[in-house]
Amino acid sequence: MPAWIPGSYMVRDFARHVVRLRATSGGGEVAAVKLDKQTWRCASCAGPLVVVYEVYAWDLSVRAAHLDTTHGYFNGTSVFLCPTGREHRDCVLELRPPDGTGYARWRVATSMARLEAAPHEFGSYTAADYQELVDHPVEMGEHTFLDFEACGVPHEVVISGRHWADMERVCRDLRRICEYHIRFFGEPAPFDRYVFLVMAVGEGYGGLEHRASCSLMCGRDSLPRAGETEVSDDYRGFLALCSHEYFHAWNVKRIKPAVFTANDLRREVHTRLLWAFEGITSYYDELALVRTGLISPASYLELLGRVSTRVWRGGGRFKQSLAESSFDTWTKFYQQDENAPNAIVSYYTKGALVALALDLVIRRDTAGRRSLDDVMRALWERYGKNATGVPEDGVERMAEEATGLSLQTFFDETLRGTDDLPLADLLAEVGVGFTLRIAESPDDKGGSPGESGADRPKPVLGVRSVPEAGGCRLSHVFDGGAAQLAGLSAGDVIVAVNGIRVWGGALAGAVSRYAVGEEIPVHAFRRDELMQFTVALTAAPVDTCVLTLLDDVDQKTFARRDAWLAAIPASRTSPPL
Ligand code: ZN
Repeated sequence: MPAWIPGSYMVRDFARHVVRLRATSGGGEVAAVKLDKQTWRCASCAGPLVVVYEVYAWDLSVRAAHLDTTHGYFNGTSVFLCPTGREHRDCVLELRPPDGTGYARWRVATSMARLEAAPHEFGSYTAADYQELVDHPVEMGEHTFLDFEACGVPHEVVISGRHWADMERVCRDLRRICEYHIRFFGEPAPFDRYVFLVMAVGEGYGGLEHRASCSLMCGRDSLPRAGETEVSDDYRGFLALCSHEYFHAWNVKRIKPAVFTANDLRREVHTRLLWAFEGITSYYDELALVRTGLISPASYLELLGRVSTRVWRGGGRFKQSLAESSFDTWTKFYQQDENAPNAIVSYYTKGALVALALDLVIRRDTAGRRSLDDVMRALWERYGKNATGVPEDGVERMAEEATGLSLQTFFDETLRGTDDLPLADLLAEVGVGFTLRIAESPDDKGGSPGESGADRPKPVLGVRSVPEAGGCRLSHVFDGGAAQLAGLSAGDVIVAVNGIRVWGGALAGAVSRYAVGEEIPVHAFRRDELMQFTVALTAAPVDTCVLTLLDDVDQKTFARRDAWLAAIPASRTSPPL
């Protein structure tokens, strides 16, 4: 049984959900001995071996398996044993509905090839080998679905969970994104059918890429309702998520690190390239929204400002490089604790900014004749089409080869160094302003200009906190901040600031009454002990990024901005649905 699922780099030990297992042959019992946490060995037998096992499925995420009275969803990595030595044999999957009239309307949604099953029905499905078998998640239940074509390829959107989505609008918008990405890498698409499996839930967010489908989880309110026409913040996020997983169909499912080509799911597989597979994908997922006209350039820059803010707010970016973040993702990025902001950097967010910086450097230094788009297409031609893995230095070498530039210093600084990226200078070249301000509130995600007068020094504790009965629990204490210097720790529950009770989690407000540099007593419980600290309040860091379209720029700068953000020539846009 696999220990991890491709796309989610953490050992999850799916075998722990195998409740019982029994092997037989010709009706007689065959001894099955467990060799380690995830491997069984069956005694030799004359006829075919039958292994029957029960799997507990109660993980409602895109990564595992979940079964209840409303639906069943699974990734093959959670439920299928891999017969050692027969990984390359073809597989037949027989799906049967649960007994009972309550399940008579259940249907099946998957990108797996049908054998004898009718479309959307229970029955037999087939895969050429084990890797293919586990790369087509399956959703069963009473879901809604609608299909569309992108560049002649049938696509399907399947939504499970209660929702009120305007399915036609979702399909219309996704079609633009899909056609953009297919044409980006060049027709034909590398699959003959594609399925978006969406779970609409009250709260939740996530996605996982597969070769001809993706699994997505989103808040049901992020889906647009009939009659709505604007793109809400949440719907913009949903479209970006779909765009992200779809781009992965090329970038990581087919253009993939060489170390992934052995398909070893038993243990961690380390690569320093995740900045390219997650970071570059994160850059293009949002860029595709503005290039297809689904969002405005201003809306795109707001997104970019928020990504930048997330990077600029983490002190860990000075300690961990992107290459290290990628290599250690198994134990660090995927296992974040209260010290994560102080210790690590995200290869998604900083990776996206490195992709942006690389794109802008290439455009600048080739006078607009090349861009990151050319590098991605070259990677597709060299490594994606024929499924040979990308060596650890392959992306850097290809960036130089496809552009004719020497980029060694750029990559040394951005991938292996920890200095901040020179985004202000690079963005100025395309007529975009990059400025920093202080956060206005704990909810301030950045991306938009602050209220006027918001730049006067504001006192802070240097923490992140969550409300807790009777006070405020410190979830994160930042290195070098006022709270840490005073001796406060993550987990402490602050109950009073300067002798006044902290109500309802309003810690920032309780501190704002005082001045930067002022020393005030803070009372907090550590475990069950009440402690007092003397905190010298520090000024709020200038760590909130704002990107704006500059108006007073020359014609050449305007042209460079257009070339960057409006990349689909009119002749290549598709006709309306
Ligand atoms: Zn991703």
